[in-house]
Amino acid sequence: MKTTTLSAADLTPKTGLRPAQAIEQLEKFGPNELVAKRPPTIWRKIWQHLSDVSSLVLLFAVGLASYMALQNGGWLKPIVIGSILVINVVIGLYQEASAEKSLAALKSMSLPTAKVRRNDVIQTLAVEKLVPGDLVYLKAGDQLPADGVVLSATDLSVDEAVLTGESVPIEKTIYQVGDVAKKTQQVFAGTAVTAGTAVIQLTATGMQTEIGQIAGLLNRTKQRMTPLQGRLNRLSSWLSVVAIIGGLVIFGLSLGLQNQGLAASLMIGISLAVAAVPETLPIIVTISLAHGVRKMADQNAIMRRVSAVETIGNVDVIASDKTGTLTQNKMTITRYWTPKTGIQAVNSQLPQAGQQLMQALGLATNAEIKLVDQKEQTFGDATELAIVRWLMQHDTSRATFEQTYPRVAEDAFDSKKKMMTTVHRLNDTQQLVLVKGALDRLPLKATVSAAAQQAHDQFGESALRVLAIGYKIMPTVSDPSADWAAINRDLTLVGLVGLIDPPRPEVMAAITEAKQAGIKPVMITGDHLVTATAIAKEIGILTSGQRALSGEQLQQLSDAELEAEVPNIAVYARVSPQDKLRIVSAWQAQGATVAMTGDGVNDAPALKAADVGIAMGITGTEVAKGAADMVLTDDNFATIIAAVKSGRTVYQNVLKAVEFLVGVNFAQIFLMVGAVLFGWGAPLLAEQLLIINVLADGIPGFYLSREPGEPTVMQATPVKSHESILGRGLGQRLGLRAVTFTGLTLGVYAIGRFVLTDNQATVGMTMVFLVLAIGSMIDIYAIKDRQPLTLMSFKRNQQLNRALIAEIVVILALASIPMLQGLLGLTTLPLVGWLVVIVGICLPTIVLELNKRWQASRADSGLTEVIN
Ligand code: ATP
Repeated sequence: MKTTTLSAADLTPKTGLRPAQAIEQLEKFGPNELVAKRPPTIWRKIWQHLSDVSSLVLLFAVGLASYMALQNGGWLKPIVIGSILVINVVIGLYQEASAEKSLAALKSMSLPTAKVRRNDVIQTLAVEKLVPGDLVYLKAGDQLPADGVVLSATDLSVDEAVLTGESVPIEKTIYQVGDVAKKTQQVFAGTAVTAGTAVIQLTATGMQTEIGQIAGLLNRTKQRMTPLQGRLNRLSSWLSVVAIIGGLVIFGLSLGLQNQGLAASLMIGISLAVAAVPETLPIIVTISLAHGVRKMADQNAIMRRVSAVETIGNVDVIASDKTGTLTQNKMTITRYWTPKTGIQAVNSQLPQAGQQLMQALGLATNAEIKLVDQKEQTFGDATELAIVRWLMQHDTSRATFEQTYPRVAEDAFDSKKKMMTTVHRLNDTQQLVLVKGALDRLPLKATVSAAAQQAHDQFGESALRVLAIGYKIMPTVSDPSADWAAINRDLTLVGLVGLIDPPRPEVMAAITEAKQAGIKPVMITGDHLVTATAIAKEIGILTSGQRALSGEQLQQLSDAELEAEVPNIAVYARVSPQDKLRIVSAWQAQGATVAMTGDGVNDAPALKAADVGIAMGITGTEVAKGAADMVLTDDNFATIIAAVKSGRTVYQNVLKAVEFLVGVNFAQIFLMVGAVLFGWGAPLLAEQLLIINVLADGIPGFYLSREPGEPTVMQATPVKSHESILGRGLGQRLGLRAVTFTGLTLGVYAIGRFVLTDNQATVGMTMVFLVLAIGSMIDIYAIKDRQPLTLMSFKRNQQLNRALIAEIVVILALASIPMLQGLLGLTTLPLVGWLVVIVGICLPTIVLELNKRWQASRADSGLTEVIN
């Protein structure tokens, strides 16, 4: 670790850097980001494409054709194959650029921000804009954006596990100017503030930070393969082996059976192998995932990891926080209870006991509502804002109360304790202690009275959050924070308030949709079991046969018991963030794929452990966002369900691409080998095969990634991680397509060569070329719609329509304009030949449509087939 010393001159003035200084520093040190390596140049990308296996084989084919041309003349072939190679590379570059564009947009969306003082204004800046010398404000939950020294701090502790592996937070102290900074006076990029606040001066940014120096960590920016990409890569390698065997067989047959000569046999063998290798599959997956990322971002779900696009589509369980995600987080006090008044509705009347309750709550509150430019600005959590609003209704404020009882100390609220304490000066010798929080957590002097308990339960049953407040008067102690346990005891209950937090209006429909999609929604809340149960019933999470469990009950279950019980539990109440990890693990032990939401620092372990960790964009801490795979910019449960839908659509589109590409590749192998075995010779020339491969395979498949989802996409069950990619009917459809095209092309060839003409191979060849090229392109409509085709199927994807029309025009021109026919060795067809071609082109679509109807009538529900 390098040493850091700041002299008085190095110290940034309290007003922060001036804009000119910031610009100067940015030019000097560059943006605050970890760059693993510079993006490759266009030449490097072209080189990468040229050096992949199919390009190398094509290059070899160009060389071979040139050699044959040198021997026998006829330079057309090497030129055509060379052009195909160029088109292949150009399409590859275009597809890659399209995927990169979406992913770059994703990167800029998920950029974290930091609070910085510059030119005496506190502003929120994207962390990449930070420079050494900047004054950055930190609070609990923030992730350190760069390295710095601590200039001022209150109770700052930082979790440095990412750097040191040490999971106990380190307490930080203030740096003394002129000294060599101690480790405890420095903070480091990538670590997380667990408690306290601080102002730091940045000393190093970007690659100069400690984390930037650790070269090994840079590998993290490397994209990992998603499970689907992995499975498809395996499928692709397997198919490549089949393609190569096909190429070898055809090479052997044409050399041995037909005496075609070594070079010509090699040529056809290579071309078949190139055509049959599904080299576009991996890029189609990348493009589909990138497209999904973009679509999800439009729907308020920012994906921090591309693989999560796929995983969210296949989740079995969504465990969601209640407050703010399922509910609106707009709390209002609607009822209160005091021993004197009993239960009362909140209105303009307020008896004295009610006033005392309101005053106690007001003093124990940190929230604030300010009017800035006629607009309301709120500070603090929703529970406390409800108290401030209650005060406002009665024309009073916390400041008014504090004039009489100034606050001297505070023990902050946290979700584990579920209460907070404030201490106020009463007079020279006495202090007033106020503790507000959950009734069951308040350390009261006497047991809760039956009346209080009844009021509490009644509020809870009406789906109200219950907040209790207790007090005590004690002799003044100089530092209450020295022993909070001694302060927080022997309280007398002042009263209770019930707060309503209505469910988000869209949440009921989202829960119904999740259930239809075979996903189990689970509610996790810090609220009381009674309140949680009431809300869960109202929004449809808790239905018959399902249980609600309290944190206490959860703690009594062993891990094994929880695993056994977990499928029956829909609500967890009064839990703390630590319990979330157990819930995730129990589900995962059941083989489920789990999504879990969270917002606080303590939620980070559960977010990391979940298959999809989901952080709240509005209320979430930077640490939670950093640990998550997905960030909801609107904190809304319904957004998760929209993301599931998009994830499933991406998955479905990739499988449609597999069906589209792979079936015909098999058919090409069977066609070539079959025809040679029948003694007909090769029914397609090398360059014909290659052009079909470029035009009919690559381009339409590319547009499949943009298909909108099937209407039934949310009616199938989630795909299990161990499920075969060929399951749910895909294998059957692939087989059917391969058989259809093999039979069809062999038949068409025979008709062209032996029925319509007297053994004219070029007629058969031209007909096979047209049927294979156009037929395997237009049946994309039947593939992309799992439902029977309608007019809408043709209207929905205009980009695809345009691409197909352009390609069909090119293919027809190549086959019918005499000047072009020679390029690929095609010939003019008799009229009947065209008729046969037209029927042949339509046949695969008809077969696919008939298969859909047959499958639908066969399957009882028909729905399990829908997903892929
Ligand atoms: P959820 O888990 O549903 O998202 P939450 O995270 O807001 O809700 P907690 O913060 O754990 O849940 O709150 C649980 C309980 O703590 C509430 O029922 C209430 O009694 C009490 N509580 C909440 N906020 C405060 C606060 N600011 N001061 C004192 N007590 C509070």
